[in-house]
Amino acid sequence: MAWDAEKSRKQKEYKERDPEKWKTYNREYQRRYREENREKIRERERCWYHATKGEKQSYFQRVRRQVLEIWGSQCARCGFSDPRALQIDHINGGGKKEMTKFPSPLAYYKYIIAQQGVGYQLLCANCNQIKKVENKEWASRWKDEE
Ligand SMILES: [Zn+2]
Repeated sequence: MAWDAEKSRKQKEYKERDPEKWKTYNREYQRRYREENREKIRERERCWYHATKGEKQSYFQRVRRQVLEIWGSQCARCGFSDPRALQIDHINGGGKKEMTKFPSPLAYYKYIIAQQGVGYQLLCANCNQIKKVENKEWASRWKDEE
């Protein structure tokens, strides 16, 4: 599956050109998504409940959940949907470095929400690892073995 870097770039362009229109579009899109996927969303709610064993969610968990919901709480590659193993991936790489610019993971999440997830995607731990290998983000570490 091809990475949606092109689509993400276009979205970003569109967003910068007309932020108001972008917001309206995004809101409308999410409303439609919720309407069309009511069953799926309910199912996911149940999954989430079991994943957290019904514990009361902390503020941090609630914000994290909001972030995951931007992408429908599932892996962009394989559709895996257990929130415990879902990770936010910076599409063009360098996510780790970027994260250090924020004082806390919470601040990072809030930033991503404000960006509506543009430039990021959700991957499960497996797919994230596979992407790293494919993109040779591990190249420097494994250079000697290549
Ligand atoms: Zn996956």
